[in-house]
Amino acid sequence: MKKMEEMILKEGKVLPGGVLKVGSFLNQQVDTKFMKEIGDEIARLYDGEGVTKILTIESSGIPIAISAGFAMKVKVVYAKKNKSSNVSGDVYSTPVKSFTHGVTNNVVVTKEYLTPDDRVLVVDDFLAHGSALTGLIDIVNQSGAYLVGCAAAIEKGFQMGGDRLRAEGYRIESLAIIDEMTDDGITFREQK
Ligand code: 5GP
Repeated sequence: MKKMEEMILKEGKVLPGGVLKVGSFLNQQVDTKFMKEIGDEIARLYDGEGVTKILTIESSGIPIAISAGFAMKVKVVYAKKNKSSNVSGDVYSTPVKSFTHGVTNNVVVTKEYLTPDDRVLVVDDFLAHGSALTGLIDIVNQSGAYLVGCAAAIEKGFQMGGDRLRAEGYRIESLAIIDEMTDDGITFREQK
């Protein structure tokens, strides 16, 4: 998505440790007009796939998931980070290591919100090492639902999570893929 690349170049800030800050439009302040375009683009990419539900993880996946859910006319479920490991039987649960904080949280989804009849699209803001998407895929598998694929607003290709998941056979769509990111500039992967 050309506009995602343009927004990253215009407003993104490269921080140490391979972190990109895009708080001005994506995950603290939200550019609602652009967010609608993001949702429309995800809906276009997965058009005809019969998606019945979108699954994301709190908190920064939620705006993107809502926008895509609105465009696809489906409900959105978000996994909650549950700090206690005491998880009751009415939830699906999986550990996810946080890229930004380094800690591992159990993330949970109430069982009644994902069923074997669902065709699920997993959505998040960033795809880095792939821990968040891997955890969400695990929750889809626990529920018996069918995983249609995943979508990320920004993939950092150099952290390899996206390519690992593609090699495992999952459909992964990213609106922009950054192959290199330094103080001197950002290089995007060519996409069809
Ligand atoms: P992964 O699990 O793929 O390693 O990392 C993805 C998760 O970490 C996303 O949910 C996202 O919130 C966060 N994340 C990863 N890289 C970045 C980054 O460069 N900038 C920001 N703002 N969040 C990131």
